[in-house]
Amino acid sequence: MKIDYTVVRTDRKSLQISVERDRSIVVRAPNHVTDEQIARAVEKKRYWLYQKINHGQKYDTMAKKDFVSGTSISYLGHYYPLEVVADQAVSGITFSDKFYLSKSQQDNAPELFQAWYVEKAKERIPVLVETMAGAMGVQYNRVMVSNLKMRWASCTTKDNLNFNWRLIKAPLFVIRYIIAHELAHLLEANHTPTFWLIVKAQVPNYERAKTWLVEHGDLLEAEV
Ligand SMILES: [Zn+2]
Repeated sequence: MKIDYTVVRTDRKSLQISVERDRSIVVRAPNHVTDEQIARAVEKKRYWLYQKINHGQKYDTMAKKDFVSGTSISYLGHYYPLEVVADQAVSGITFSDKFYLSKSQQDNAPELFQAWYVEKAKERIPVLVETMAGAMGVQYNRVMVSNLKMRWASCTTKDNLNFNWRLIKAPLFVIRYIIAHELAHLLEANHTPTFWLIVKAQVPNYERAKTWLVEHGDLLEAEV
């Protein structure tokens, strides 16, 4: 992802990169520093900038989401619009290129959406785990989909794998990365070079998945 920033030339001696209140990035730079040097300095701080910007977003996503027509709802890496419809048309939630929510259920929307996500996660994740474990030649005990606190997944000492239901909001390649990561831990406890080779054999673009997770850390914190 490209990082947008504004350069302000100043008399100061050193370069300063900051995230403003509106989350825009401002670089204050002395006149002798070239645009290329600025771009490189920003690139070096990419991770820090994402953390800073996402930390700000936390407050937005934690704030209650309004389940009104037009709200966008994430599922498997895409955002779909929500449409609130008359009760006769649908009961609860339905999904078909759009999310439909019956008007009388609007107040229960957070619970209904969570239940919907959990259901989809339970449909998809265990099947993927089984296939990938087969390909990797790994044995595990049980797969669970649950409401993990601040983690995408975990692996217990009894080789039970636990996945956060919020993962179903992420693109498939990201879900596959998280699964490969947990399964790889059954072969290699630590993040050694061998560990990453095992992950890479299953998910060649795993670096992109890691970046996606950093950029979308707010999804993990969102209530629904
Ligand atoms: Zn790990």
